[in-house]
Amino acid sequence: MRYQSTRGASPVQSFQGILLGGLAPDGGLYLPNQYPLVTTQQLDSWRGLSYADLAFEILSLYCDDIPAEDLKTLLHKTYTPQVYCNGRASDRASDITPIHWLGEEKGAKLGLLCLSNGPTLAFKDMAMQLLGNLFEYALKRANQDLNILGATSGDTGSAAEYAMRGKHGIKVFMLSPRGKMSPFQSAQMYSLQDPNIFNLAVEGVFDDCQDIVKAVSNDLVFKAKYRIGTVNSINWGRVLAQVVYYFQGYLLATQSSAEKVSFAVPSGNFGNVCAGHIARMMGLPIERLVVATNENDVLDEFFKTGIYRARKSAETLHTSSPSMDISKASNFERFVFDLLGQDGARTAQLFKQVETEGGFDLSKDVAYQRIQQFGFVSGRSTHQNRLETIRQIDQQYGVMIDTHTADGVQVARHYLQEDVPMLVLETALPIKFEETIQEALGRPAECPSAFKDIKAKPQRVMNMPADTMQIKQFIEQHVI
Ligand SMILES: *Cc1c(COP(=O)(O)O)cnc(C)c1O
Repeated sequence: MRYQSTRGASPVQSFQGILLGGLAPDGGLYLPNQYPLVTTQQLDSWRGLSYADLAFEILSLYCDDIPAEDLKTLLHKTYTPQVYCNGRASDRASDITPIHWLGEEKGAKLGLLCLSNGPTLAFKDMAMQLLGNLFEYALKRANQDLNILGATSGDTGSAAEYAMRGKHGIKVFMLSPRGKMSPFQSAQMYSLQDPNIFNLAVEGVFDDCQDIVKAVSNDLVFKAKYRIGTVNSINWGRVLAQVVYYFQGYLLATQSSAEKVSFAVPSGNFGNVCAGHIARMMGLPIERLVVATNENDVLDEFFKTGIYRARKSAETLHTSSPSMDISKASNFERFVFDLLGQDGARTAQLFKQVETEGGFDLSKDVAYQRIQQFGFVSGRSTHQNRLETIRQIDQQYGVMIDTHTADGVQVARHYLQEDVPMLVLETALPIKFEETIQEALGRPAECPSAFKDIKAKPQRVMNMPADTMQIKQFIEQHVI
């Protein structure tokens, strides 16, 4: 399997060639040259496999430069019930991503695909835990080490730290806006005591953290000298790892591969739902891919109108589903490339236009007229919708959901079809966004027992000014 850039002007690469990197040299994102097709017979033969074995079947189609035995070992080490046992349906932790059925609405079964049972209680663990093991493996083989620099407003940073803690050859320098994350999120990150994890609490907002990461990454000499890498959501390994749970969700929801399933996905950077798109391109019988946004509705606007209008960071609203507060959906380029029939030159032109003019208009393009065949539909929700949905699901089904999952449920309900099960991807547990849960329900969020005393644990965090020079100095002093 070879990987091409969405902008068509970079040499093709192997899986391990792109694993540790970010953007392609031409500024594009990597995608496989073609999507391997899975037949219905193959799909049916995967029923009953463990999650790790299912992941092996899927990943071995994409990472043929890792020996099969090694890949299998890595996957079995990653997807264990012991790691994914913290949340809902924990009696079925061996499914890794069990389904929790809510009930039937408009003749459709409505359920949650539980993706938030990992160590940081958000779906990002699903991919990041594998990335931690893959990175360690690839670095060891290449006899290299890596210093991961990132910025986080919550979920990404903690998922990365829990995935990389204690890994050989890897250090993590994670910038977070001091005092701006939920108390649970900061406790989760800052209580890590592993010597290879450095929490840097920056005096400023998330954008300041992001700007520093960009400034450091743009210093190519520094970047090369200190072997700086990232784990951001454009990483192909992350997208690929997420493809697996669409298959698992499908297989758990159906009896035979003649049936169809729809998925509703709370979306920000379009990474999660991009994995759904890839699963569908591989032949998984997905009826609809429901893109759910919050008030930051760039993606909803595109699917409804064909006009993509990225927002400036100053126009990005701070909402009660903060992990979806994005101004530019970084993985969206992958879908646009497919929508345009994998035309790299055209994709390059459109995304350069995003930089110069802030967006593009495909409303009159034949490509947009074909968009239905990709199964996408979309919707947005507001703070008020979120509160109502959290209340309804609690009253109707006795289930407490987080704010992002609530956005997914609210939009999913517009697109239910008789006899087509609808799985809403549960992207985080409510305890991570406890303030809004309290506001919606008038009672505190449920807290998994393993996390009861997390806020009382000693914290390991450095306060830093929003100053690139000082962050660089800190890295210099602490690299391997
Ligand atoms: C990251 C995140 C999202 C958005 O996922 P994308 O892959 O960026 O679309 C949604 N919900 C939660 C809880 C998240 O952490």
